[in-house]
Amino acid sequence: MSRQTQCAHVIDLEGLQQLLDALRERGYRTLGPTVRDGAIAYEDIASVEELPRGWTDEQSPGAYRLRPSDTDTVFGFAVGPQSWKRPLFPSHQILWRAGVAGGKVQLDSEPHIDAPLALIGVRACELSALAIQDRVWLGGAAPDAEYRARRADAFIVAVNCAHAGGNCFCVSMHTGPEVTSGYDLALTELGTEGEPTFLVTCATEAGAAVLETLTRRAARDDEIAAAQAVVAHTAASMGRAMPETDWVSRLLVSPEHPRWNALADRCLACGNCTMVCPTCFCTNLEDTSDLSGLQVTRTRRWDSCFSVDFAYVHGGSVRPSIRARYRQWITHKLATWPQQFGTSGCVGCGRCISWCPVGIDLTEEVAALCAETPD
Ligand code: SF4
Ligand code: SF4
Repeated sequence: MSRQTQCAHVIDLEGLQQLLDALRERGYRTLGPTVRDGAIAYEDIASVEELPRGWTDEQSPGAYRLRPSDTDTVFGFAVGPQSWKRPLFPSHQILWRAGVAGGKVQLDSEPHIDAPLALIGVRACELSALAIQDRVWLGGAAPDAEYRARRADAFIVAVNCAHAGGNCFCVSMHTGPEVTSGYDLALTELGTEGEPTFLVTCATEAGAAVLETLTRRAARDDEIAAAQAVVAHTAASMGRAMPETDWVSRLLVSPEHPRWNALADRCLACGNCTMVCPTCFCTNLEDTSDLSGLQVTRTRRWDSCFSVDFAYVHGGSVRPSIRARYRQWITHKLATWPQQFGTSGCVGCGRCISWCPVGIDLTEEVAALCAETPD
């Protein structure tokens, strides 16, 4: 945790409020976790009062429940249904508008961003997911202008996890629970008794500049050790784990494995898993015109490889069965994504397990597919 100890200070709730205020004064739109409709959602927040203090969650396959915690912690919960994909890569986005005015075609394709984003409470697995989305949307010859505009100026306040959800498996994906890169400031909530305090460290000049404005004191060695213990405890209490096997090669040689049939019998092809996944990026484009036919809008919407129309080409879908679509999802996410983008497409957040209405557990399925496949 050497980087965590750099510029290590301790702040309290007043300091956390000052952090929100400082970011807003700098023009950021501050988004953070709050309780919304019985779940943790990432919404606009201006006050620490809006954070989910005193709440925790219980998660298992097909189940998510928020409940009052036994402690008064501020970040004592795991990831909810939303990810940071939502503000950085919105589910519904106008890419361009075109119209005819004065006899000429006019095109508006510039990204329209009201304010740079400050993301408060980003977990380690979510930082890994952001890095993956960065490769998808910013890598290659044609970076996505909309994503780049949102991502370029984002300020990230990360949080070391103090609570592993029942479906978390970031340790086995090497993506958490400790934040190691990709943030400006990182918080670790210290202790569960009394008023919340946070060890705060910085990783960028922007982070250091904001930290300097907060009411703070230098962290003691025992507080740095306590922060390390928080992460170690979380790592030791993961709800799940991916099997310790080479699932990449095994999945690639298992297209006819009988387990796909069993999966297809359970899967509803609802697409929930892809909607909540922080790395899934499939989209559909829609072109619409107004009644005059003089104004045209192109809109990008999230789509899902579980949709039968997603793989439609002339004459029909190339993946007409649920078996084929589920196999495509897992095989791409875990086995061909590394070839395409250089990393796994899964960061072990567990969302697809919690929000699958029939409780399909990715880790269980991969274990079964690998265990029953010869080396
Ligand atoms: S596949 Fe599931 S566990 Fe992996 S990143 Fe996506 S939602 Fe999280
Ligand atoms: S695996 Fe679960 S969440 Fe995903 S499409 Fe099938 S039923 Fe829906």
